[in-house]
Formats: sequence, structure tokens, C-alpha cells
Amino acid sequence: MPFAKRTDHLRPEGAYQVLARAQELEAKGHDIIHLEIGEPDFDTPANVCLAGIRAIAGGQTRYNPPVGLSSLREIIADQAGKKRGIRITPKQVVVSPGAKPNLFFPTLALVNPGDEVVYPNPGFPTYEAMIGIAGGIPVPVPLVESNSFSFDLKTFDRLVNERTRLIVLNSPSNPTGGVIPLADLEHIAETAQRHDCWVLSDEIYSHMAFDGLAVPSIASLPGMAERTIIVDGFSKTYAMTGWRLGFGIMPEPLAERMGLLLTHSVGCTAHFTQIAGVEALTGPQEQAALMVAEYQRRRDLTVDGLNRLPKIHCLKPQGAFYAFPNIKKTNKSSQEVANLMLYGGVAVLPGSAFGRYGEGYLRVVFANSVENIKRALERMEKVLNKSL
Ligand code: PLP
Repeated sequence: MPFAKRTDHLRPEGAYQVLARAQELEAKGHDIIHLEIGEPDFDTPANVCLAGIRAIAGGQTRYNPPVGLSSLREIIADQAGKKRGIRITPKQVVVSPGAKPNLFFPTLALVNPGDEVVYPNPGFPTYEAMIGIAGGIPVPVPLVESNSFSFDLKTFDRLVNERTRLIVLNSPSNPTGGVIPLADLEHIAETAQRHDCWVLSDEIYSHMAFDGLAVPSIASLPGMAERTIIVDGFSKTYAMTGWRLGFGIMPEPLAERMGLLLTHSVGCTAHFTQIAGVEALTGPQEQAALMVAEYQRRRDLTVDGLNRLPKIHCLKPQGAFYAFPNIKKTNKSSQEVANLMLYGGVAVLPGSAFGRYGEGYLRVVFANSVENIKRALERMEKVLNKSL
């Protein structure tokens, strides 16, 4: 059956592929520790669940505005504006089922076929998928370990030009946990202004930074709010991956165009999910803070453990829940090492699942219990001692 060419470039997400293979092995009796899926292992806070349940029982189960409930948009505008030191109006806020539609639809609205889009590599695989669907030309920019997994700015400067329509940023990053420092953001902002580009700033992990670090946003820089789409959501911060709730913040005319795209695709975001979102943002924040503190403890355990393994070294991620150890000294590909680990009882992703500049690394998710992380590190050590 011939499919439309615009979908030919789509590939499954590596995490789901490795999960499926891990589950096959489990069905055959293997014991696998899952460090492959980027999802909080905590439950959604009880107050948030209760708000959602009450909303369903109260009949808040119907269509609602495509761009979201005004009550939720007001709260998001207020909190997101304060966090970034800029003025944001509720009309600039577009609520969506998960953050992903706020990656896809602005790309569709802004990128014409043949326009170039610059994006991080290794990076979240959805970026490449959405650029291809829009007919854009994907231009990957390497994230480099020597710059704490921020862009290689020399390569960035070489790749951005008058054909560049959109620059995608992700800080803290999936898969590296790296945070783009303010000086790099200033450089990127100046370049975006010079070439008149839009910036899609995926800040979904910006509430999950360690050691008290405040993650800077490019939207806070002078002249940038009018050309930036901030993408954020509830999946990670409030452990709400399955609720499907995210949002984008952008100039009003683009938000209006987003309303049309949402109208004709998903229709709207579930009403009761948005009520749960209001509770998440306005209710007690202790649990969200506790989760971050716990991730930090697990990060330290994971990174210290990885750095004790033979032929591996690992930078300390500054945010999110991913470690991105360098395995180049093993002289094996990241796919080979990930396979060996899987058969040794630990599911991790090869860095190559995030693009070609991810080769030579693994992505290790530390959103798992301390006990499991310790057992996983022991297993990884055994695998490396046996196979190197
Ligand atoms: N952006 C990044 C960098 C992610 O890692 C993810 C999820 O893994 C998303 C966006 C999508 O978030 P959501 O599940 O809310 O659509």
C-alpha cells in the first residue's frame, strides 16, 4: 500500500522499541530493570487526581474551547510570566493534550516546504518528525559534551542562515540533561534576530533543575518574546504523563492560528484534565518539589555509579532525569552496548536513538527507585567486565 511521502521519514521512538524488546525478554523469564522510558515513577499527586475525579463526577466532560479553559490560561500566563520575568497575556497561552501538539502545530504554522529548521542532536525524536511533516529541511546542530551538552556554537553559526525559519531549543535537554547557559542563549537570540528566525523553546524540564539552578529562558531576553514559542506542560513536573496536558506560549496571532489547527485536529483538551491542571498549579507544591529533590539524590547515585564503571565517564546532568554517559572507550557502538546491557538485565537507550551525534553515549533514566538504580549499576558493571 503506498503511503503519502510526507510520512516516510517517521520512525518509532527508541524508548518504545527497547521497552517492547525488554518485555519480550521478561515474558521469557528474564528480570529487567527499566531505565529506558522517560517518565516519572511517582504517582500524580492525590490533590490533582481528586480534582480530576470531582470534575468528571460534576459533568465537566464536554467540548470546551480549542485553546483551553480561560481559567487555566490565566493561571499559566501569570505563573509563566513571573517565572521568566516577562508579561504574558492569557490570549498568548495555548493549552493542548500533552506538550507534543505545541511542538507539532507551531512548526506546521510557521515552516514552509523547503525552509530550514535548526534543532539539537542528540535530541528529542519528535523534532525531526515534525520538521519532516511540515516539509522543512532538518538541520541538526551537535550538542557537545565539551560545552556541557549545549550547542557547538561555531557549528551553529555556520548552519544558521537566511533560509533558517525556526530554531528549536530544549533546556534542560532530553537526552543529555544539559542546560543551555545564559551566554549561549544570548548568542542564539542575537543570531535569531539577525536572521529573523522563530525560536521554539521546549522548556518542559525547566522545573526540574538541580543544585538550586534557575534555568534561563530565551523568551526573557530583549526582543525575543515576539519570536519565541515556549513549550511546557504537566507531564514531567506533576507526574501527569497519561493525563495529556501541556501548553505553549506565543504571540497572539500565532496563538489564534494554533486555535484553528487544534479545532480541526484534536478539537480540544479534556475539560476535567484541565481542571486537574488548575489544581496542580494552584494547590500545594510540596510534592513537585519533593520529586525534584529525589531526582537529584538519584542523579548523584547514578552519575557516581556510572563514573566508577570501566571505560565509562558521565557528566553531571543539571536537569531532567537523564544521564548521558560517554561509552566511546568501549570501542563498541551505542547500540551494541545497549544490547549487551539489555541481555544483562538493564534496559537503556543507545545515544544513536537521538540522532547521529548521540553515537558513543547511552541514555540512562534515573526516574527509578534507589534500590533499582543500585542493582542496575551492579549489573552494568558485570556486563562491562565480561564483554570488554
Ligand atoms: N519535550 C521533551 C523534550 C520531552 O522529553 C517530552 C516527553 O518525553 C515531550 C516534549 C512531550 O511531553 P508530553 O508527554 O507532555 O507531550
